[in-house]
Amino acid sequence: MAVGIDLKDVSKTYETSKSTPILALTNTDLTLRPGEFFSLVGPSGCGKSTLLNMIAGLLPTSTGDIHIGSDKIVKPQRSTGIVFQHATLLRWLTVLENVLLPSKIAGTLDSKTRALAEQYLELVGLGHTKHRYPPELSGGMQQRAAIVRSLVSNPGVLLMDEPFSALDEFTRETLQDELMRLWTDQPKTVVFVTHNIAEAVYLSDRVGIMSARPGKLEAVVDIPLDRPRLPELRSQSHFYEIVGDIRRQIDPGNSK
Ligand code: ADP
Repeated sequence: MAVGIDLKDVSKTYETSKSTPILALTNTDLTLRPGEFFSLVGPSGCGKSTLLNMIAGLLPTSTGDIHIGSDKIVKPQRSTGIVFQHATLLRWLTVLENVLLPSKIAGTLDSKTRALAEQYLELVGLGHTKHRYPPELSGGMQQRAAIVRSLVSNPGVLLMDEPFSALDEFTRETLQDELMRLWTDQPKTVVFVTHNIAEAVYLSDRVGIMSARPGKLEAVVDIPLDRPRLPELRSQSHFYEIVGDIRRQIDPGNSK
């Protein structure tokens, strides 16, 4: 079941042994409704991954609190799925074994989970690869498997850190559409970090715009596009107007 995320006064300062502390994220308030698709965009170093890793419970906050539903986040949650830029599959396990591994470790692997894993692998075009090993697959196929792995336990929250940035444009767009299908099939709250403004607009209900030095959430923009979002949207003028508006907010000097 999708759950909301609430950040109150969250900041992060990295203490370093060599230099002065680095303020990576200034005090941030943000509330995401259950089932919302929210993206974070902004230049490198503006604190996107820092924010995501704090929501994941992988990194402690310096100030403030994060709640997912009623749970205060102090450590990683089983009900939160995470997808990173690189697929991190174990090369000595098959695709299906990789996808089922978290449930196996959690002791929740049953026939329902297995059936869901097989259904999702089919849905993302990997049905025929389930008994193959990761090194035999392309980067895009491995990332599809990593996304399926994050979804089979039906997490209420899915955190994605530039999951498609290492892929070519065609594969990236295909995976965006597959992610939309999976998210529609199994609604959940998604926080999606990307450098790609068009990707954020295509996928999201709202987009958070961040700036660097120090990292700051500058604005949150509603994306006024109907769903389902279909591939032809990418070549429509109102889509490009929204992308242009956000680009100008990130870089006010860019009037194009
Ligand atoms: P983004 O994901 O937007 O590229 P990050 O969250 O990775 O930004 O980084 C934000 C800032 O924090 C950057 O200045 C980065 O150099 C710094 N930073 C990130 N991780 C660490 C760390 N472990 N130790 C010290 N500084 C860090």
